[in-house]
This record gives sequence, C-alpha cells and structure tokens, in this order.
Amino acid sequence: MDKILFRNFKIVSHIIFGRGCFNQLADILASQRTDQGSAMVFLVDDVFRQKPLKERIPLQKQDLLVWVNVDDEPKTYYIDELTRQIRTPMAQDPARSPAGVIGIGGGSTLDIAKAVSLMLTNHGSSADYQGWDLIKTPALYHVGVPTLSGTGAEISRTTVLTGPQKKLGINSDHTLFDQIVLDPELVAGVSAEQRFYTGMDCYIHCVESLSGTYLNAFSRSFGQKAMALCREVFLEDHPDSDDQLMMASYFGGMSIAYSQVGICHALSYGLSFVLGTHHGVGNCIAFDQLEEYYPEGVAEFRRMKDKHGITLPGGLVSGVSEKDLNTMIDVALVLEPLWENALGARWKQIMTRDQIKRLYVRM
Ligand code: NAD
Ligand code: ZN
Repeated sequence: MDKILFRNFKIVSHIIFGRGCFNQLADILASQRTDQGSAMVFLVDDVFRQKPLKERIPLQKQDLLVWVNVDDEPKTYYIDELTRQIRTPMAQDPARSPAGVIGIGGGSTLDIAKAVSLMLTNHGSSADYQGWDLIKTPALYHVGVPTLSGTGAEISRTTVLTGPQKKLGINSDHTLFDQIVLDPELVAGVSAEQRFYTGMDCYIHCVESLSGTYLNAFSRSFGQKAMALCREVFLEDHPDSDDQLMMASYFGGMSIAYSQVGICHALSYGLSFVLGTHHGVGNCIAFDQLEEYYPEGVAEFRRMKDKHGITLPGGLVSGVSEKDLNTMIDVALVLEPLWENALGARWKQIMTRDQIKRLYVRM
C-alpha cells in the first residue's frame, strides 16, 4: 500500500498586527542590522511616491529605496532587472552589506520583494526557479508590508511570476516572508474598485478551497473564518472592515496553503498570460461565468458585486485570435492540481479543451 505523505509546511514566523504598527518597522529591522553597514532594501509600490507613507519609511543612510511599478503584474525579466539594480551598488560599496528586503505594497509588490530576496542569493534568472522547490539557497531576510488586502501573498510560499513560457510561481519554503507587518491603516488610499477586486480574490480562494476535493479540517477551519469575514466586509457595513479584510486575506491564504484553488484561478491565469488581465479583476470576470461549478459562491459574489456597484469589464475574449485562445487554454490546463482539486482525479474527462473554450468566449 502507498504511504500517505502529508505536507509539512512552513509559515511566516513573525507577525505584527494593528493600526499604526508600521511605526514599529524601524525596531523590527534594527534586530537584523548586525553592523553599521547592514543595508536594507525597500521595494515600495510607486503609488506611494507622493504619499505621506514615503516619509515614514525607516531609511538609514546605507539603505536603498527602490520604487517598483506594478502596472503590469510581476514578470521574471523585471525581477532580474531589479536584482541587478540592487546588486551592483551593493557590490561596489564594501562598507555596505545587504541585510534584508522589505516589500511595501499590494500582492504584486509583495511578490516582487519575495522574488528579489530569493534572487539576491541564488544564481541565474528568476525564470529558472518557476516551479516547486527549485530554490536551494535561503533568501535574504525579507519582510512583507501589505497595503491592499486579499491575495494572501503575505502568508503564501509562492511568488507568482510571468515568465517567457509560463505564469507560475516560485514555490518554496524559502519564499515565505520572515516577518509580516499587518497595519490596516495602510490600505486607506485604495480605490473602491481595486479593494473589491482584490477582496474578491480572497473570497474566491475560500469558495475554491471549501468546495475542493483536497479539503481537510485544517483548510476548512481557515476557509470558513475567512469567508465569514468577507461576508461581514462585503455584505454588511462593518465599521472595522479594513481590519477584517486584512485578516480575511491571511486566513484565506492559510486555507489554500493546505488545499488548492480551483477552476476560476486556472482560467484567470490564462487571461492574465495572454491579455495581461490583473489577477483580482481577472478572477471576478472568470468567476462570474462559473455558476455551473460554484452555484452558491457565484450567487453570493453577484450580491456583493451589486451592493458595491461594480460593473465588470466584458467582451475581453471576443477579439482574441484562435492561436491566442489556444495559448490561454494551454496555460490554464498546465495547472493540474487546481483542476484536480475542483473536479477530482478524473477531471480530464470533465474539463475538455472545448469546454474551457466555451467558458473563455463568454468572458
Ligand atoms: P496589486 O499589487 O497589483 O495592486 C493593484 C493596484 O493597487 C496597483 O495599481 C497598486 O499601485 C495599487 N495599490 C496598492 N496599494 C495601494 C494603496 N494603499 N493605495 C492606493 N493604491 C494602492 O494588486 P493585488 O490584487 O494586491 O495583487 C495582485 C498580484 O498578486 C498579482 O500579481 C497576483 O499574481 C499576485 N498574487 C499572489 C499570490 C501569492 O500567494 N503570492 C496570491 C494571489 C495573487
Ligand atoms: Zn488568487
């Protein structure tokens, strides 16, 4: 009989939560600055370039502040370029030694910080490590400071990157942040639309985890809590909704850590690879077509969407060539664990290329 292997997974070791806790970042980093030359690299979403948060970044003179742009979701070539941009001045100044990377922003910036901290200690291109457990050398100490809630990137063991051939994460225990700073005050400036799309990423993580074949009591416990929080945030007018959503994101991430996402995420990856559709909105567009697979989840999602006055973009796939449509299908089909989680071991008999195409052309 085959021995059952249970996943033995690592989680983030240090978490600070609360309104204003960002002010403690300087003290947290001080414990990592082992000598005067210990330099921190701050990778900050450039949306904050003109915002008061800029003045609150605990920069010391040897540190490096790099503004990152997330108009496009993270690409492997961008990670390689940022790594070079950081490595060169550090290497030229022997008085400075890189001691840590701090990512401040939404899921894209958090993923950039994770990937750069890995690539500062590993050779080659980040594209070489897209997959599972390919990273051998531990990353530089790295900290995640989310400014947008929903992706669960703060807690996950992956950094999702689009490479020349695929959209696939660098999945490894080394990818996990060493420290996360969960300060709900930081999400204040997000537009209502963006907040909804990224919040729905969390809601969809829960639906896909809770209805999947990989579900177990561990994932169910976190998924149910995250879903309850999403309901408070998006269906009731909860006064602490930024706090609630930040915790929903964390719990949703913990739920999928021991299960998987499903059909919506597989289809959304295809949209993103071919059309550059961002994760949150791409998930919403895909999920809206999945009534057949997630009837209750889709009905509730539509109530949330209506309550928040969100109109989803449509007609995305109508002008797409047959070749691009096939690429989209290929990208979605590579994600076998997602399909298996959603539809069971015999998923290939249920989800044919034709069926995926039928779903895509409705988007
Ligand atoms: P994002 O990071 O792409 O940001 C979306 C927009 O919001 C950007 O324009 C950004 O500048 C802006 N923004 C962020 N914080 C803001 C603030 N406080 N005020 C004003 N504007 C702000 O969005 P996201 O939905 O958080 O992240 C999506 C990314 O996360 C995708 O690349 C996706 O692949 C990735 N992801 C990763 C994981 C993981 O486990 N690693 C999981 C899900 C998604
Ligand atoms: Zn997601």
